[in-house]
Amino acid sequence: MVLESINPATGERLAEYEEHSPSRVAEMAEAAHAAFLIWRETTFVDRASRLLRAARVLRQNRESFAELMAREMGKPFAQGSAEIEKCIIACEYFADYGEGFLATEHIRTEAHRSYVVLQPLGVVLAVMPWNFPFWQVFRAAIPALMAGNAVILKHASIVSGCARACEEIFRNAGFPEGLFQSVLVGSRRVAELVGHARVKAVTLTGSTAAGESVAAQAGSLLKKTVLELGGSDPYLVLADADVAKAAEMCVASRLINSGQSCIAAKRFIVVERVKREFEDHVVHAMRKQKMGDPLAPDTTIGPVARFDLRDELVRQLQQSLAEGAHLLFWGELPSGPGAFFPPAVLTDVRKGMAAYDEETFGPLAAIIGVADEAEAIRVANDTSFGLGAAVFTRNLERGEHIAQQLEAGCVFVNDFVRSDSRLPFGGVKRSGYGRELASFGIREFVNVKTVWVK
Ligand code: NAP
Repeated sequence: MVLESINPATGERLAEYEEHSPSRVAEMAEAAHAAFLIWRETTFVDRASRLLRAARVLRQNRESFAELMAREMGKPFAQGSAEIEKCIIACEYFADYGEGFLATEHIRTEAHRSYVVLQPLGVVLAVMPWNFPFWQVFRAAIPALMAGNAVILKHASIVSGCARACEEIFRNAGFPEGLFQSVLVGSRRVAELVGHARVKAVTLTGSTAAGESVAAQAGSLLKKTVLELGGSDPYLVLADADVAKAAEMCVASRLINSGQSCIAAKRFIVVERVKREFEDHVVHAMRKQKMGDPLAPDTTIGPVARFDLRDELVRQLQQSLAEGAHLLFWGELPSGPGAFFPPAVLTDVRKGMAAYDEETFGPLAAIIGVADEAEAIRVANDTSFGLGAAVFTRNLERGEHIAQQLEAGCVFVNDFVRSDSRLPFGGVKRSGYGRELASFGIREFVNVKTVWVK
């Protein structure tokens, strides 16, 4: 079987990649294990120096990587360049702080000496999505590697060019051969990887369905998992908010990566008193967007990554309208081929509608009117997901109080949700479990070993 890369802006077939055979996959798993045995003996200083070299390789190739993302999954070029910058920052951050996060902790007991040492687990399988083809990989891989593990990447099938590029980065940065490898297989062969005896743990970023399937198998084999899954992030706009600013943030968050982000604002929960004003600002901001060729410098919204994803958005929009939502705005379709879905704004969205109940993965904003703050919190938590959330209010104390009550892995007050190497990232409920980034992320794939000396 082959994996195809198709330019979603044009429909053009860019490349075909032959899947790795089962015997090649087994060889790669053995090579990863052999590299791990060498790598775990290296010092943190040595690991950090390779991470800094990886940062240099990223910096030198920033433009070509941004172009590759634009071609393979439609990300606007400037956003691709910013994504590479985040990867560079992660390399530098874990080079600086990784050793401290993994430092041995001495604990006073009746023993002569007792302490906790954090040791790598071995080969970590990273099953990754296409929406941030470099950042997702780096934020999973960098802490795992700094902790002394090896990584096998199973990237999304539509971004095999990016998968290859990631492998090249680590090779060019001087990591031991086999320590980071990209296995080219489709999702139906993930079970073969999870089941391999050399694979000791799995991190998956993707849909809830994929997470359930991988977690079930890994669970049956008692292999540790971290799951970063979907989200339906609520953004609460209270009556005392700076409504213009809130709308600007909501639109920016909804449209990043052409709306295809797990932590994009997906449900705008707005107190009725300011709803009309908020709607006007949102429509105004949506109208200003430029949808088109992701390589053109003025493009703010590219195509969505696949044609079936565009069809799914059309279904969610039409179903929500049939269920009683109102369409405030729907932009222009660019001429020519391509998986384009113009930015759309729905209002009067209610429970039972597709735009309320489901994750919408594209530039589709859903506005939900609520009577007051208490109803806003209730609606925000009325979802099976729990990834991010945001609250807009001029009263910071109130914002922080609401942050405590929202069922989410992170809550931002008067700003939009983003991942940051310095802060833990992850979800609750059906958005997954475990954390990436910061001290929490680097400690996911380690053996927390107690040593007692009498
Ligand atoms: P996806 O279809 O679940 O794919 C993600 C990865 O899992 C791909 O490598 C895919 O391989 C593989 N996969 C798919 N189905 C699988 C299965 N049943 N068993 C094992 N592996 C499977 O998700 P996507 O469409 O690429 O990405 C969008 C979803 O990811 C959204 O729900 C989004 O919210 C979520 N996401 C979450 C985060 C987060 O940090 N929480 C970040 C980004 C995206 P193939 O490509 O070969 O199918």
